[in-house]
Amino acid sequence: MKSGVSIDDVLAEVALMVRPQFGKGRPADYIPQLAGIDPHKFGMAVCTFSGGEHVIGDADEAFSAQSITKLFALGLALNQIGDEVWTRVGKEPSGTPFNFLSQLEYEHGVPRNPFINAGALAITDILLDTVKAPELLVRDFIGMLSGSRLEIDEAVAQSEIDTAHKNRAIANLMRGAGTITHAVEAVIAAYCRQCAITLSCRQLARAALPLAADGFSPVAEETIFPSRLTRRLNALLLTCGTYDSVGSFAYRVGLPAKSGVGGGILAVVPGQATIAVWSPELDKFGSSVVGTAALEYFSQLTNCSVL
Ligand code: GLU
Repeated sequence: MKSGVSIDDVLAEVALMVRPQFGKGRPADYIPQLAGIDPHKFGMAVCTFSGGEHVIGDADEAFSAQSITKLFALGLALNQIGDEVWTRVGKEPSGTPFNFLSQLEYEHGVPRNPFINAGALAITDILLDTVKAPELLVRDFIGMLSGSRLEIDEAVAQSEIDTAHKNRAIANLMRGAGTITHAVEAVIAAYCRQCAITLSCRQLARAALPLAADGFSPVAEETIFPSRLTRRLNALLLTCGTYDSVGSFAYRVGLPAKSGVGGGILAVVPGQATIAVWSPELDKFGSSVVGTAALEYFSQLTNCSVL
């Protein structure tokens, strides 16, 4: 990041610059419980490698983490079984929507990457090999990394479980292909409950610090990922983390990132900081409109792009 810039001043400027973006997207409504969130919420948090925390707006309000949890579930699976993960899931951008079905069929039930729904369902299946409730493992892992106790929003979870018809179709296809080995309903329930973990921008930025600090969590005071794995997780975020608009996201923001349909986006400045932003209105691909703009302005003002 540009030396001498005040992160607090940058956040204040970003909060002003994003104002014209409100009203340009729509909150996710395919999960009924998410449709009722105030669309004009906006929070942003920056945690630096050296222990600084900077926040603005609704940065301490909990929101639905959704797809952002896929990053932490993948980290757990890679820590558990290492490269064997890649026999079940690929590492290529999908170029298709996060819940696309047909690609999976002509690619023989092997998901393109761990961040589309099919890939995340396969990761849930891997975690189910060793624990009964992987969503609690993921919740407690993120909680440990953020230094707080996190909750699963049961109403959001149930709302998604009741309406997860497309994800059930994806899971059934993979069950048939052998990519998923556990009962489809068990995988769906654990996956939907994992997506319903709630956390604030500050908690998310803290939890992701190992990705900016060569695998070390300053909050948990321990090494979470080996250094090489940290680099690889960031590579996957950069190439697959923001749905099928990953190219234009990299073009605009230039940082490894993961977005979720709850309106959150996590971005990593390797070696320096993590940034979490939340605003519920989404673009047609599923990323927060205001959140993407905020990260674009932040990266321009601080010159922190990795590209
Ligand atoms: N639970 C959501 C789904 O499966 C997650 C999607 C997302 O945040 O990208 O549809």
